[in-house]
Amino acid sequence: MTETLLRNWICEIGRRLYQRDMIAAADGNISVRFGEDRFICTPSGMSKGFLRPDDLVIADSTGRKIAGEKKVTSEFFTHLKAYEIRPETQAVIHAHPTYATVLTILGIDTTIPILPEVVMNMVALPVAAYATPGSLEGAEVIATLIKDYDALLLERHGAITLGADLQEAYMRMERLEHAAKTLYLCHLAGKPKPLPPDALEKLMAVTVPEGTLPPPYPFPQKED
Ligand SMILES: [Zn+2]
Repeated sequence: MTETLLRNWICEIGRRLYQRDMIAAADGNISVRFGEDRFICTPSGMSKGFLRPDDLVIADSTGRKIAGEKKVTSEFFTHLKAYEIRPETQAVIHAHPTYATVLTILGIDTTIPILPEVVMNMVALPVAAYATPGSLEGAEVIATLIKDYDALLLERHGAITLGADLQEAYMRMERLEHAAKTLYLCHLAGKPKPLPPDALEKLMAVTVPEGTLPPPYPFPQKED
């Protein structure tokens, strides 16, 4: 994909995140790998719902700005940690989707397998520990989980998703928030029932190659 197309796609995905209420004000950030040691990323302090291609900046793998007028997002170090640990990753999205954030504030177990499409696409939705937004700590807290998962909730701070391209990272964010909303509504109305073990087994068999099941599997089933 050309640089122009990538820039257009970042702006388009920013608009979708904004329109779907997954970011507010200047929240969130998007980046894409672009050539050797180069990333195109969103600037800090701007609404990602109204970006123009020229607002984007180019940075290297140390977080240094290479091109662009605006400042590199302070959360770019968290993106860089994901690119470092998962070198196949081409795009990273961080957003503040409401239901995902609410679940982490309530301390609700988000790894409970309730939706087949989540198991098939992302296995589970674990939560990374709280870190001050924009700090280097933000990169540290995702390091362990991001090895095995393409989508993480961040305690009190939205979520992060990875993808082989921007569209995949975006779809994972949308799916994550839909799953979070579903789980929240289940808790509101009663007690969510997890997928039965045999159904889960079948899903995992078609989803994850044998021997590569990431933890936690089988999923912890909380008794209450
Ligand atoms: Zn954030």
